Amino acid sequence: MQAKEFDLIVIGSGVLGTFHAYHALNRGMKVALIEKDSKPISASVRNFGQIVPSGMNPKWQRYGRKSLKFYKKIQTEFDISIRQNGSIYLASNEEELNLIHELHHINQLNDYPSELLSQEQCISKYPSLQTTYVKGGLFFPEEVSVNPREMLCKIHQFLKFNGNFSFFPNTAIHEINTLSDQTEAVDTAGNSFLADKVIVCSGEEFSLLFPELFKKSDLEVVKLQMLRLKGNKSIKIPGNILTGLSIRRYESFQDCPSYSSLSDQYNHDYFARKWGVHILFKQETDGSIILGDSHEYADAPHKNALSFDNRSDINQYFIAEGKKIFELESWEIDTQWAGYYTQCKTKDILQKTIDKNIHIVTGIGGKGMTASAGFAYENIKKIFAI
Ligand SMILES: Cc1cc2nc3c(=O)[nH]c(=O)nc-3n(C[C@H](O)[C@H](O)[C@H](O)COP(=O)(O)OP(=O)(O)OC[C@H]3O[C@@H](n4cnc5c(N)ncnc54)[C@H](O)[C@@H]3O)c2cc1C
Repeated sequence: MQAKEFDLIVIGSGVLGTFHAYHALNRGMKVALIEKDSKPISASVRNFGQIVPSGMNPKWQRYGRKSLKFYKKIQTEFDISIRQNGSIYLASNEEELNLIHELHHINQLNDYPSELLSQEQCISKYPSLQTTYVKGGLFFPEEVSVNPREMLCKIHQFLKFNGNFSFFPNTAIHEINTLSDQTEAVDTAGNSFLADKVIVCSGEEFSLLFPELFKKSDLEVVKLQMLRLKGNKSIKIPGNILTGLSIRRYESFQDCPSYSSLSDQYNHDYFARKWGVHILFKQETDGSIILGDSHEYADAPHKNALSFDNRSDINQYFIAEGKKIFELESWEIDTQWAGYYTQCKTKDILQKTIDKNIHIVTGIGGKGMTASAGFAYENIKKIFAI
């Protein structure tokens, strides 16, 4: 089989791989994006689609804010499902109210727009909120939501207008070789792809490529349980909805002065602690509502220890807690699924370069939809020294 030649090969068409391809194309490079499945079906399509730089620490908020610009720019050229309805953090008690006031102040200093909302303002903005739950909110008007089940395929369609872009679905790379003047990626059918550089964004699927390296890494795999509620066409809860437990969990709040004196995150709630639950909502345009999520962890080499079952007690917990926050038309479960991502225990992302031209980028954790577009922009500049 004759080898196909490119400036850059990106392995993995999740959000990290797709945005590395996007930025390289914008620099005039000839790019191959290679995906083992017929389309991406991993973490990047199984998530909420919440683009929330407000929840990140300062370094990743910068990447997230850059991502917002890229998402909005692409949306003006091609519909990739971006909706700018903002993000709201709903405080359910005095401690959380304090934290949102403090985060508002931090973001004023960072020049990142946010608005404090009283209980009444929250209820007028989201009329189905339970008055017994909400005490106030912090709203970030710049933030967007995406439909994760559609967005990447739409970006791939958009990229196809660029003659320098080639997408290879159903193509699993199992070997990467450094040749004298090029780098070669070989798929399981024996096809060879040649380029100056290869970027590997293979997500949690790392037992195929570089198994030894990944075994030695401090990566862990995280399993998240999610569900979608049917109907709810008459209910309007636009944007990214984050609630009290997220205020206690998201990194940005750790810079708030009162964070260190916060009472135990899960207090007497043994179940939520055991399964790492916090409650988030995201409504799609058809009215259905994504509700989640839980977190279970396993070291990368032992990822099979994570059960492939979805637990109904976790689903029931999401619903019981959700009912305390919103009054919905329907709590009937339409679909449920699990998603998996990797994160490093000691770093905020895993990056490794082999033989100068093979660049591994994975382990972006729970911030990939928010930060990948901005991160990849910087990373392409760094890798190609431009
Ligand atoms: C349930 C859930 C909810 C989340 N919610 C949010 C959210 O609301 N906001 C947010 O910012 N982040 C969220 N995240 C995190 C986010 O989804 C991840 O950080 C991100 O998707 C990781 O992207 P990735 O490209 O690294 O990996 P992936 O999406 O896993 O993509 C990797 C791709 O590489 C392909 N691949 C692997 N090996 C090969 C090979 N050898 N050859 C060819 N192709 C290969 C795979 O098939 C896959 O398509 C959530 C994650 C989950 C699981």
